[in-house]
Amino acid sequence: MKHALKETGMTRFLDAGDVATLVRRIGVPVAIMQMADCVRQDFLRWDAFEKSARLASHSPVGVIELMPVSDGVQFAFKYVNGHPRNARHALPTVMACGMLAEVETGFPLLLADLTLATALRTAATSVLAARAMARPGARTMALIGNGAQAEFQSLAFHAGLGIETVRAFDIDAHATARLMRNFAAVPGLNIVPTRSVREALDSADIVTTVTADKTRATILTPDMIRPGMHLNAVGGDCPGKTELHVDILHRARIMVEYAPQSRIEGEIQQWPEAPVSELWQVLSGAVPGRVSADDVTIFDSVGFALEDYSALRWLHAAAIAHHAGQFIELVALPPDPRDLYGWMMKPDIAMPGAMSDVPGKAVALA
Ligand code: NAD
Repeated sequence: MKHALKETGMTRFLDAGDVATLVRRIGVPVAIMQMADCVRQDFLRWDAFEKSARLASHSPVGVIELMPVSDGVQFAFKYVNGHPRNARHALPTVMACGMLAEVETGFPLLLADLTLATALRTAATSVLAARAMARPGARTMALIGNGAQAEFQSLAFHAGLGIETVRAFDIDAHATARLMRNFAAVPGLNIVPTRSVREALDSADIVTTVTADKTRATILTPDMIRPGMHLNAVGGDCPGKTELHVDILHRARIMVEYAPQSRIEGEIQQWPEAPVSELWQVLSGAVPGRVSADDVTIFDSVGFALEDYSALRWLHAAAIAHHAGQFIELVALPPDPRDLYGWMMKPDIAMPGAMSDVPGKAVALA
């Protein structure tokens, strides 16, 4: 069997700027909806994937996670962090990168920034879930937490569900102001700033919570919830980090991505025996999303490796179509694959020279 990329010995590399340029060229709403298609197709192949809960390394200020998945043809993994107080270091709360490799040889096909793709795939998955669970005709969404994910969630619900008004609230008024600035020229999407969660929920059909704080928060309490609402709970995504009062869960239909991981990380960590359905079951029609108009429905989103596989394969296809990124020699490919030492000793390999530009590394090598 031929492996086109292996013949050239190159891995496609997309840095953050490459991904941003690609997404701008395609258009954010189009990119989100294409990614939603990929997520839907992959969740409908649920049994084809080798799945596991992600590996998480916790610290008092955040979490660093590795998220692998494979369908036996391709293998993908994402590295991602969640540090709610990173703004004080002038860094985003969430940063990510990842790889797509072919299973037959293990050769890495794509190495890419996934910070932007994480926002796109999270929004894409949220809108897929809402299509299955929200009441038809929803036009107003409350958006609690107006940080890095906020625009992507808003655009996804506008493009994918017909949301026309977003009622925005954040404890940081600058965050809401930035959201309004960014959307000043987006036709058909009306952003209404509000002064409290309760005011944001006024007349909302859908509530998206996407706040960042490593604590058992109660952003939403039972008295705020009206029959028929759909809650898209995105921000609570690791142990000890939740957004909903537990009593809201008791009276709702709950859908998760992958139950073994969500029971550790999601809102349902507060209620370990919670009856839940998984997204693939609802997308396949095996389980209904909403049964009656009065149901309160919850998508308890934590982010699952399969969504990142979908994001990586979308990025890969888009990069090929738009000739984006560059090819790099990410892994050593000696002409004689077993002569790694001989290959290293060849003077024409331009390897250590660059290191002399980095004093720290040059000293370490000496
Ligand atoms: P961010 O730090 O850029 O923004 C978070 C915003 O929440 C900030 O503007 C902050 O002021 C606001 N906030 C904090 N506490 C609040 C409160 N009590 N009420 C209202 N607003 C509050 O973070 P982000 O990148 O937008 O991510 C938001 C959350 O979503 C994080 O917790 C992140 O881990 C999570 N996330 C989940 C997924 C998923 O797949 N489920 C994917 C990406 C991010």
